[in-house]
Amino acid sequence: MSVQKHIIRGFAAAMLAFVPLGHALAQQSDNWLTRLFQPPSPSSTPASLPDATSAESGWSGQSGASGNPLMTAEAIRAAAADFPNCIERLWPEAARRGISRATFEQFTGGLTPDLSIMDKLDAQPEFTKAPWDYLDVLVSDERIARGREVLAQHAPTFAAVARTYGVDPAIIAAIWGVESNYGTLGGGRPVIRSTATLACVGRRQDYFRDEFLSTLEILQRGDVPADHLVGSWAGAFGPTQFMPSSFKRYAVDFDGDGRRDVVDSIPDVIASTANNLKTDGWVAGQRWGYEVVLPPGFDFLLADRSRQLTLRQWENLGVHRADGASFREPDARAYLLLPAGARGPAFLMLQNFHVIMKYNPAEAYALAIGHLADRLRGGGPFLRAWPRDERVLSLDERYEMQQLLARRGFDAGEPDGMFGPRTRLAIRNFQASIGAIPDGFASSDLLDRLRK
Ligand code: CA
Repeated sequence: MSVQKHIIRGFAAAMLAFVPLGHALAQQSDNWLTRLFQPPSPSSTPASLPDATSAESGWSGQSGASGNPLMTAEAIRAAAADFPNCIERLWPEAARRGISRATFEQFTGGLTPDLSIMDKLDAQPEFTKAPWDYLDVLVSDERIARGREVLAQHAPTFAAVARTYGVDPAIIAAIWGVESNYGTLGGGRPVIRSTATLACVGRRQDYFRDEFLSTLEILQRGDVPADHLVGSWAGAFGPTQFMPSSFKRYAVDFDGDGRRDVVDSIPDVIASTANNLKTDGWVAGQRWGYEVVLPPGFDFLLADRSRQLTLRQWENLGVHRADGASFREPDARAYLLLPAGARGPAFLMLQNFHVIMKYNPAEAYALAIGHLADRLRGGGPFLRAWPRDERVLSLDERYEMQQLLARRGFDAGEPDGMFGPRTRLAIRNFQASIGAIPDGFASSDLLDRLRK
């Protein structure tokens, strides 16, 4: 499956923009992207596009921070002026997909680009959120209480879906809760307008052409009524935030009314989300992972997602479940994650954690989903406290850390303020060189050390 599927979804996405978790974010850095109006006819003069620039569109009128040539203010204005022609150029491909000319004109005629999306596409958060802040918001008492209500209210549907797809109901409820706060937050932009804009303007046009054409297919089939096909600026819609292309791959009609309505039909929402996870490799009956404790003198270089060992092998290294119980699946492979370094909680992550990350590619997201699901089942908070005294580095400080590492001969990659695997390795190597625990965690103390 394409990495491109990993578009940032809904509310969780807005939060993720603030999470400094390395690899996941590095992967997302190319994914910093993340619905429409009715038409006059496209055969009418493509001439006078209403002034789609700043003021009335809500666009800042500024060039994007990515530096991509398609994101300069001039390029955005030029693409906006050519928007009706661009949409018309997509007609042959739409026709090949079985879209009728009437449908095409109904949903694209008179459409104007939503240029405010360009600011979102290139947004670079100045401040990042610590993992514990992110989890505090997403796994709040209120979200736990509401999730338990949702599970109880739709218990027969969740049970039927679990029988069919083998996916744990609490995980689906957690995704529902995190993606849209159980359907109360999801964004109000018409999906057709957002995807059309991104298909014709800015740096992700190749990706979004498919999303735009997929949206037309949904509208033509009538799976979701046009006025309900609204969502995030990147075109994710419904309580569990399906992108149009993932809708095509995963949506199912579980209530049997002939439509795959992942917006208004709860059975369709629950089953489609389960089908998505199952198709992505969900292992029935297995957990997402475990909170663990590490033995004294532990080799922190083992905390790396490329080190996949079986739970039995981890146990032989002295790694045990934090609650003292034994691992249920000793032959399953897992990697060790320390979201806040050696001073915070440690986790062994199983295959299902990777599946959740396919839904939204950030470790903080997947950890929030796994933990919220545990809490919905009555589990307690993590046993080890987060190092809440740690200050999260600003974007400038992250640049600075990369530059200082390079200056000392530790290759952190091209400084970009994003901490991917190379930066983490450089941090570990620097930590090892000064006799510190090589956990790869970018603390403000470490930045101070680098400045000396
Ligand atoms: Ca249905």
